[in-house]
Amino acid sequence: MSAAPSFKVALIARGRENTPAWVVERLAAIPGLDVVYGYCDTEAKLLAQAGDADMIWTMGRTPALTPEVLPRLTRCKAILRSGSGMDGYPVAEASRLGIHMCNCPESISEAVAEHAVALLFALIRQIPFKDGAMRGLDRGARGAGFHWHISGRTLGLVGFGRIGRRVTEMMAGFRMRVLAYDPYANQDAITGAGAEPAALDDLLAQSDYVSLHCPLTETTRHLLNAEKLALMKPEALLVNTSRGGVVDEAALVAALRDGRLGGAGLDVTDPEPPVPGSPLFSLDNVILTPHCAAASADFERNFWECSIQVVLECLAGDYLSHCMNRQQLIQPRK
Ligand code: NAD
Repeated sequence: MSAAPSFKVALIARGRENTPAWVVERLAAIPGLDVVYGYCDTEAKLLAQAGDADMIWTMGRTPALTPEVLPRLTRCKAILRSGSGMDGYPVAEASRLGIHMCNCPESISEAVAEHAVALLFALIRQIPFKDGAMRGLDRGARGAGFHWHISGRTLGLVGFGRIGRRVTEMMAGFRMRVLAYDPYANQDAITGAGAEPAALDDLLAQSDYVSLHCPLTETTRHLLNAEKLALMKPEALLVNTSRGGVVDEAALVAALRDGRLGGAGLDVTDPEPPVPGSPLFSLDNVILTPHCAAASADFERNFWECSIQVVLECLAGDYLSHCMNRQQLIQPRK
C-alpha cells in the first residue's frame, strides 16, 4: 500500500535553525505534513525550494514572491503571511491564479491596539518630553505645558477592523467619545462596539485625536494628505500604527512644523526607517517607535500558534477560514 501524498509547506522566511525548536517539533509531528525551511530572497531560490509546494509560508516583506513568479508555483494553493499587512504581496495575481492569500492578524492585534493607546497617552501626557526635561535633554525644551486631556475628548479611528475595535474597547473606561470611519465595516457593528460611525471629513474635523487602523491599499495611500490634515483641529494629535504610506509624510511634517497639528506618534513611516536627517527626528512634537507595535511578551507564542493553526486548516482542505482574498478568487485551487 503506498503512503498518502504529503502536503508540502515551504517556510521561505527563515531557516530551520532560526525557527523555534518547539515549532519545528510540533510541525514534524503532524501526519501528512512535510515542511521545508530556508530563507528565499530571490525568485530562483524560491522556485528551487518551493516550486512544488502546496503552501508557501512567509513573514513580513518577501522580495522573492513577485507577480511574475506566481504562475510557476503550479501546485501552490495557499500563501500564508504570518501576521497581518498584505501590502507588498501580489494579491491581485494570486487571486487571478486561484491562490488563497491567508494571514493571521489576530496573533498581533491586541499588542498593536495597546501600542496605539500607549503612543496616544504618551503624547497627551507628554511623557517622553517630560522625561527629557527631567534629564536636561533637548527633547525637554518643548515642555510648554499640557494642551491635552483624555476624559471627555473625542478619538477618531480610521479603519474599524480588529485593531480599531480593540482600541475602542480599551478606551471605554476613559470616558472618551469614539468616532469611526470605515466604508467597509458593518455600521451596526461600529455602534454595537461603542463607537459612532462618521464620514472621514467629519471625523477629522471633530476629533481631538486620530488613530489610523486601515490597511495600506491603492485607495488608502496618502489617505491623510495635506487637504485632509488641514481639516484636523489645530492641537490634534495623530497616531499611526497602520502603515507609513497611509499618510503623506511631507504634508504631515509641514503641518507639525507649522504648528497646524499638536503632535504625532508614529510606529510606521514612509520610508521605513526614516532616512538619516529626516525632519521626523528633529521635530519636538513627534514620538517615533521602530515598527514594533506587534511586539510583546506574548508575541512569539501567539504568532507561531496562530500560524500553525492556519497550516493545519489548509492541510485539512479549509483554505477559507483565514483567507483575505476570498472575494477576488476567480477559480480557487483545491
Ligand atoms: P483588519 O483587516 O481587521 O481591519 C482593517 C479595517 O480597515 C477593515 O475593517 C477595513 O474595512 C478597513 N478599511 C479598508 N479600507 C479602508 C479605507 N479606505 N478607509 C477606512 N477603513 C478602511 O486589520 P487589523 O488587524 O485591524 O490591522 C489594521 C492594519 O494595521 C493592518 O492592515 C496593518 O497595516 C497594520 N498593522 C500594523 C502593525 C505594526 O506592527 N505596526 C501590526 C499589525 C497590523
